[in-house]
Amino acid sequence: MAITGDQSFLKQINRIAMIRLVRAQTGLSRADIAKQTGLTKSTVSLLVQELIDEGWLCEETVQATGLVGRRPTPLALGTERLALLGVDVGCDFLNVLISTLKGEILYREMRPFTNTAIDARLDALMPMLKSALKLHPAYRVLGIGFGIHGILSADARQLIHAPNLGWTHLDIHALIAQKLSAARINLPFYPMNESNAGALAESVFAQNPAHHSLVYLSMGVGLGAGIVLKGRLYCGHDGYAGELGHTIMQIDGPQCGCGRRGCAETLISQSGLSRLLEEKEILTIAELQRRLQTGDIQTQEAVNTAGRMLGVLLQNIANSINPEEIVLGGPLVDLGDALVGPAMSTFSASQGRFDTRATIIRISQAGLDACALGAAARVFEEMLQPGSAG
Ligand SMILES: [Zn+2]
Repeated sequence: MAITGDQSFLKQINRIAMIRLVRAQTGLSRADIAKQTGLTKSTVSLLVQELIDEGWLCEETVQATGLVGRRPTPLALGTERLALLGVDVGCDFLNVLISTLKGEILYREMRPFTNTAIDARLDALMPMLKSALKLHPAYRVLGIGFGIHGILSADARQLIHAPNLGWTHLDIHALIAQKLSAARINLPFYPMNESNAGALAESVFAQNPAHHSLVYLSMGVGLGAGIVLKGRLYCGHDGYAGELGHTIMQIDGPQCGCGRRGCAETLISQSGLSRLLEEKEILTIAELQRRLQTGDIQTQEAVNTAGRMLGVLLQNIANSINPEEIVLGGPLVDLGDALVGPAMSTFSASQGRFDTRATIIRISQAGLDACALGAAARVFEEMLQPGSAG
């Protein structure tokens, strides 16, 4: 078959295919890549060398086997030249981190920040970004991902609603562009929803991300979720798939910020727990932990109730989406067994007669870095799209 079209575009597609292959199967040799892509060995050698020179790939040390003859050199993602910058524009803190292509965190600056004005937040972030970039001159940073705690439009240019920050209808893309330009930071950037970022953090850097399907739950002041199906973020028709926090779990239940009643978020979140405990202010995780440690019965009961509701939500997710894993993330997870224990027992007890395969339920490995790390992962994903800036 004759291949026509733009040669440099084809070359980029081949380069991307090779990076994806090595990401999925660390240790592949040049010959393996030729076999799997159908490209000639000489083309593969040429492109692999280019990718090594640029820092996308590296050669791993060949294990001595004692056998005679040259062993094929295993390839892996490069971790010494290229980096990803991820930002969590959190509700009460800011987090900036630099990660390798494998998700190893090289640098992090997290600090409390309570001023919810968008201008103040972005202004505070710019010097943090500059420090991060200055401290790692040896790395070429490919771009910046911004994790935003709110609902974004499908093209991620508009912020539709961020209830916990009081933001509605902001041109978030233009605002960030303006601040980056004023700070003279000239890098491609990608705003995204916080829970979607958490889901990417757990999937992009996992073994064989192309086959991974998971649901990430972000539980804190509110309750968000991100869905990854077969390695791709599922955003839905209008961009807000995964709003599992606003699925109704209790008819005529507590009033939710979204206008409905009895949403999962009103039952499984810091705000839900604070309401159960009849507190006017939203309780911090530290305060909830303190009350649990001192054996406060009311708090124990409230957390137990939230945990049982979480178990029902997990069962609903397992049945409706059938992911390989459900990952529990966000600060609420720090309540530990008091929350997760009743969730797991309710999940198991509500197993249906025909549920043959168990969904794995686990705690997020990225912890409070999940959003920023996922925003960094988004940059990597963007670079692996044909026509990207990478
Ligand atoms: Zn709601």
